[in-house]
Amino acid sequence: MKKCLFTKEQIEQKLREAGVQPTMQRMALARYILCEADHPTAEEIKTWADKHLDKISQATIYNTLNVLVQSGLIRAFRFSHSDCVIYDCNVTDHFHFLDEKSGRIYDLHKDDIGVNVELPKKFKIKSMDLIIKGEVKG
Ligand SMILES: [Zn+2]
Repeated sequence: MKKCLFTKEQIEQKLREAGVQPTMQRMALARYILCEADHPTAEEIKTWADKHLDKISQATIYNTLNVLVQSGLIRAFRFSHSDCVIYDCNVTDHFHFLDEKSGRIYDLHKDDIGVNVELPKKFKIKSMDLIIKGEVKG
C-alpha cells in the first residue's frame, strides 16, 4: 500500500469544508483514492466501492469525487489514450508515463526527465500535462 499524503482528519475536514457530511462511506471512498488506488478511473473507483462499501449510490461516488477534486486533494485528468477520467492523488507538478502493455500509469517527476520547453515570448505557461507512452523494461 502506498503512503497516504493526508491524514484521516485532513480528509474529513476537506469534506466538511465543502459542505459534505463526512459519512463512513465517503471517508472510505476518499481514503481508497488517496491512499490505495493508483491513478484510478471513475469506473475502477465504482467497482471498488461496489465491492467494499455497502450500497453506495453512484451519485454519492461522483459527488465525493467532485468534492475531492474541488478541494485540491486529488486531480482529475483525461488522457488521449482512453475516454475516461483518471483521478490522481498526486497534486504536485508531474508528468506521466503510460505502460502500453499493462495500462499502468507511472508518475514522472520533472527532475527525472529532461523537458525544457521554450515557447515564443507571448505564451505564458500555466500548467503542462505530458503523457509519454511506451513500455517498462524488466
Ligand atoms: Zn500522477
